[in-house]
Amino acid sequence: MARIEIDQLRCKGCGLCTIACPRKLIQLCERVNIQGYTPAEAPNLEQCTGCALCAEICPDVAITVYK
Ligand code: SF4
Ligand code: SF4
Repeated sequence: MARIEIDQLRCKGCGLCTIACPRKLIQLCERVNIQGYTPAEAPNLEQCTGCALCAEICPDVAITVYK
């Protein structure tokens, strides 16, 4: 099964990955990280295909994809 990891400290909460994911698996958290941003999270990755569109669009290289 494919999965992603989002580096909560690198993420600036821009939301681009939430738009890029064709399965809509990524959302922004309610809580703020140490930098004052609301980072992305992907609580349910059962539908993740490992397409890596989220990682490719992330300007902060905060997403790692595992296949
Ligand atoms: S790898 Fe693809 S399917 Fe999985 S979270 Fe990223 S954009 Fe969505
Ligand atoms: S694209 Fe990158 S910086 Fe923007 S919300 Fe997603 S993980 Fe965070």
